[in-house]
This record gives sequence, structure tokens and C-alpha cells, in this order.
Amino acid sequence: MDKLQQEGYSKFLTSYFEEHQELFDQLSQGQQPDTLLITCSDSRINPALLLNAEPGELFIVRNIGNTVPHYQPNKGSTQAAIEYAINVLEVKKIVILGHSNCGACAHLYHEHVEGEPELPHVDMWLKYLEPAKNAAMLAVHADPSKNIFEMTEKHNVIISLRRLMGYPQVQERLVEDKIAIYGWWYEIGSGKIEKYNYATNNFEAVM
Ligand SMILES: [Zn+2]
Repeated sequence: MDKLQQEGYSKFLTSYFEEHQELFDQLSQGQQPDTLLITCSDSRINPALLLNAEPGELFIVRNIGNTVPHYQPNKGSTQAAIEYAINVLEVKKIVILGHSNCGACAHLYHEHVEGEPELPHVDMWLKYLEPAKNAAMLAVHADPSKNIFEMTEKHNVIISLRRLMGYPQVQERLVEDKIAIYGWWYEIGSGKIEKYNYATNNFEAVM
């Protein structure tokens, strides 16, 4: 904690905050983010750093495995955050950002060994990722050169995109062309981002 508080926070106050005081004054009046970003809780994902985003630019929802559950009224914090981002903040873009080496996706293949900690809440949440595991297994069956974990991470993004499109407020705005939805996959070791192409059903390098 000392490092975060003494080095981290004090450095923020004396450098970034001082240099951006006008921005923080403005942000204290309210927020108008353009983009809802749904990503994993993983500590290696730092959206502001990765996308060079300033405070106020991204409305971020994080959960284990960057997944979007099926639409169910009055259920869960991810649904509440999506509803708020769309109905109140009126974001124009939604990005689901999956990533390589995702522990949540890998956990789907892990057999519980006696003596390991029980993870009832994680196990329950990861049921949302089961369809991605099934799709990945089919993909690897069809082409054994593909990596099962990468396939799971990517199918998880695709399935989450589809589920997001089942949210009534998203459907409405898609029909009116008021929102765009993207699926990205970020490779931690290389810094590469691949974007889902709806037409080809493939992930393609952004640059
Ligand atoms: Zn993850």
C-alpha cells in the first residue's frame, strides 16, 4: 500500500493532476464519455495506458473474463452499468476488450484438485463463458493448429457481442444507427490488438 499511496498517489498529485487541473475542474461538473469499454479485471489490462485515454473518455465495466451475461431485467452489476452507459451517458461506441493469457478462460479447462481453494462465485460467473469453450473446442477440432485458449478468449468476445445485441436499449440504437459495437482481443506479450470483423468472422490486426 505504501508504494501506491506514497509514490503513486503523491506523484499523481504533483505531476498529472497539476498539469491537468483544467480538465479535472471540467470533469468535476460531470462526465460525457464517448465509449463504454467492457474488459477483464485482469491487472495486466490498463485501458487508459493501452488506449492513451484521458480521465472522462472511457466508461469502464470490468469483470472476470470480460463477459456480457444474457439480458435479464434487474440482474447484476454488468447489466446495470451497460444500462447506465447507454440510457444516461448515451455512449456512441461499445468495445468488448478480451485478452491473451486470460485466467478466466483458462480456468474453464481446469479440473479442481483437492486442497486448492474453492471458488464458488468464480465458478458460477464462469458459466457465462461455457459457450465460448464449446465454440473453441469445435474450432480447434476443425483446425488443430489453433490455440484452444486463444480461441476461447476470442469466442468469448464474439458471444458477448451477440449477447449485448440482445439488450433492448442496444437493439434500439443499432436499428437507429446511433451506436457501434466492437470486439477486440489484446495480446499482452506483443501489445497487438486484433479487431473482430463481422463480415469475415475473423479477428484482424488493427495496425
Ligand atoms: Zn482475463
